[in-house]
Amino acid sequence: MPLLKLVFLGTGGAVPRADRMLPAIYLEDWLGHRILLDAGEGVQYRLFQIGVAPSSLTLVAVTHMHEDHVLGLPGLVITAKFLGGKVKLLGPRSAHEVLSRLGVEVADSYDGGRLKIRCVEVCHTVDACGWLLEWDVGYKLDLKKVEGLPKWALTKLIRGEEVEVGGRVIRPEEVADPAHKRYRRLLYTGDTGPCPRMLKAVGEVDVLIHEATFADDVDPKKAHEEGHSTVADAVEAAKALRAGVLVLTHISARYTDKARHRQLAGRVPPPPHIYVPDDFDTLLVQL
Ligand SMILES: [Zn+2]
Ligand SMILES: [Zn+2]
Repeated sequence: MPLLKLVFLGTGGAVPRADRMLPAIYLEDWLGHRILLDAGEGVQYRLFQIGVAPSSLTLVAVTHMHEDHVLGLPGLVITAKFLGGKVKLLGPRSAHEVLSRLGVEVADSYDGGRLKIRCVEVCHTVDACGWLLEWDVGYKLDLKKVEGLPKWALTKLIRGEEVEVGGRVIRPEEVADPAHKRYRRLLYTGDTGPCPRMLKAVGEVDVLIHEATFADDVDPKKAHEEGHSTVADAVEAAKALRAGVLVLTHISARYTDKARHRQLAGRVPPPPHIYVPDDFDTLLVQL
């Protein structure tokens, strides 16, 4: 069953607070991928606290080179080496040279078979990637249409391959449940203002993790000039992307708590279902 576990290791932005650290999200999928999205300062300790060794990560994807998103990298990379692992990094192309000085492999996409990750250019003050994760969950077959077919053929059809049985070529689309979605998507924006080109490049997602640096007490124009979003901007993006789940993060240190963000989120009727997690909150999402 397509299930994601998200642990929010740092839900702050720019300036940390005692109860809100810098951006980092741990994602584990049902296939066993362990991915860290952004690496705020001290993230390796937070990983240990949730029982995840830095050496066991499939990859670390940083959105951009602003310090609040990358200062945790050097420690994480060194610890992973001591533990016998090697960190694979994803980052925006313009940052590859700097990042490779850490002695790691750097790329701007990942192909793990059933999980693919790619950079989607967002609208920030520097070159920045939103990370789009796409899982191929295969086809769900219409049992009536596949009656009598051998098991090997069913396995191939579910994976999206055509088969030949008794001289008849069967394409998966012919025997699949048309209501079923083959791909499931999650987008993590990192820092961004409202961004039409990002929306266009992505299309639709199931889960959107969007920054909401500000609530509604800051002039949106000012927020956008700084390359950031308000809660209302994040909600707009979620609606445009038809997201079922919206998570708000990168909350400015100007807010002593997240009451205002939650109040604003509570006024939006689902979908999307909106969450404003605290540090160390875990969210399980069935895709
Ligand atoms: Zn930031
Ligand atoms: Zn930034």
